[in-house]
Amino acid sequence: MIKFENLKVMPMPNQINKDRSLEIIFPKLSHFRMDSGLIGLYKIAKKENSSEMEVEMHLTDEGLTFKGTEDNLTALFNKSYEALLDQYYSKSTEKQKQKKEGFYYDSKEDKFVRFPKVKSMGVAGLIFSKPPRMTAKQVKYDVIEVNEAGKKIKKKVLPPEYSHLQDRFDSFLSETGLKISANNLLIDGPNAIQPQVEIKVKKGKERGKCFICGEASHSLTDIGGTVYPMITGSSGVLSFNSNGGSPEKVCWKCGFIGKFVPVNGFYVYNNESYNIYFSYSSSLVKMSEVYDDFQAIKVDDPNLFKNFENKLGGFFQRPFEQLFTFLYSLYRTVISKKTTDEFDLELDFEKLFDVVISKAPLEFYTINTTALGDTQMGKMIWPFNDSVYLFRLFNHIEKNQISLKEVMEGLIDYDQPKNENKTMMRNVVCERILKKSSIVELIEQHAFHVNKSKKQYIKPIHDFVIEYEKILKDGNDKLDQAIIDTAVSLGKTIGFSVASAGRKGKGDLFRLRKTRKPEDFLNEINRIQIKYGALVTADLYGNGQEFETNFQEFKQFCMIAALNTFNAKSQN
Ligand SMILES: [Zn+2]
Repeated sequence: MIKFENLKVMPMPNQINKDRSLEIIFPKLSHFRMDSGLIGLYKIAKKENSSEMEVEMHLTDEGLTFKGTEDNLTALFNKSYEALLDQYYSKSTEKQKQKKEGFYYDSKEDKFVRFPKVKSMGVAGLIFSKPPRMTAKQVKYDVIEVNEAGKKIKKKVLPPEYSHLQDRFDSFLSETGLKISANNLLIDGPNAIQPQVEIKVKKGKERGKCFICGEASHSLTDIGGTVYPMITGSSGVLSFNSNGGSPEKVCWKCGFIGKFVPVNGFYVYNNESYNIYFSYSSSLVKMSEVYDDFQAIKVDDPNLFKNFENKLGGFFQRPFEQLFTFLYSLYRTVISKKTTDEFDLELDFEKLFDVVISKAPLEFYTINTTALGDTQMGKMIWPFNDSVYLFRLFNHIEKNQISLKEVMEGLIDYDQPKNENKTMMRNVVCERILKKSSIVELIEQHAFHVNKSKKQYIKPIHDFVIEYEKILKDGNDKLDQAIIDTAVSLGKTIGFSVASAGRKGKGDLFRLRKTRKPEDFLNEINRIQIKYGALVTADLYGNGQEFETNFQEFKQFCMIAALNTFNAKSQN
């Protein structure tokens, strides 16, 4: 008989490794996309209660660090990944939730369970658009021929091992009105969107360098759409790390955080195209704080066409007008103090400083994609970093009792037969505002275009263009602001005088608008003066030189003001 008394129980080598604390660092990669994934992982892992799972988690500007045993780290990463898929990938529209068209057999509870169909939308949809797969298991239906109303038809029935359920299955189908649409019956779990991911916290033999982060790694996979979508067509995005190996392989960490990108993204979908926004900063801590602030504009859209609240009305479809509404929603919800009066919003300067300036500047990355067959292709990537200017502009405009919502409505061209063309002009106007350039020429064109054969209210865009152009010129030249005032005042006088003549008066306005040279313009004004007895302001003659050098702009302001006054006075 062998005695065991003196035998020491040695831990197995595997056990030693498993109990040792590991440190996994996801470094900041200074790319809006990958850093968004990093913030996404941080936010979700935090919600999953990393400390309860005995993992220490720490975010600094340099990166995100996890400390724990191999098992605990793996468990936290798996749990976070499940939560991510559930919250961002397997989404159902309101209709799908109501219909609950999917079903599976629950073997433990011994019953059939309905569930809503799922799809991935938004940023998640761009990363992974494949159909849902089973989460547990499934069995193939048998196909038999049955006689129904004298005809032989094929019918899917449960396979022999489940045939004892057939009667209950038939009544489940007839009670719910559901149809068998697949070749298999799901068992013990619904379908879900499940992009594959590698979680390999334990270090092993190095296999090469990662194409994205440049680190040597023991676990590399081929780069693909789910790691780096929109890889085609925008080489600038592709080649931000030149230390990567070839052919392009990525480490498990980059592949993993790449799936968490949707968490930090906002999106809106229409006309088969996506507009997507990521906030980005050179400080990760700041990105994390901004993420929390920006949650306030998130909404659950019943159709999953967007994930933020639009505070500017409807019909926004093109990239710049969409970005404009996105930033306006942030301004109203996050950057201003809450009041009930639309025009009495106080800019919250402390918040503005926190969000946009403190620690490191905040930028927004805008991505516009368009459908190419079944996939979406990146069309434009554009960083926007002038949000301080824009938020202050919004505030200034609304403090002057001008409703931006009405301005945006006033820029729709309802005369365009095709829907997608109705906001073409508005998109260009928004682009110019975002890029701090003049819009008076466009507004003048639009105002006369929409008033050609009918009367359309232009007061909001009239008020807006005057305030906006004055802000643009502020600091450059006070004289320009005076010129705007003179032009507007002259326009008002003219509009007022010709209003009583109705259509004839409108004809005179269009004639005045047609003049190309300063002297022709003045001649036409003289004619109107004589015809209608208008009193043209003496300022015009006093500012003769400025009038000539700024003639085009002067005329544009004058015409907008004239048309606006004409519309108001000729109402009855
Ligand atoms: Zn990597």
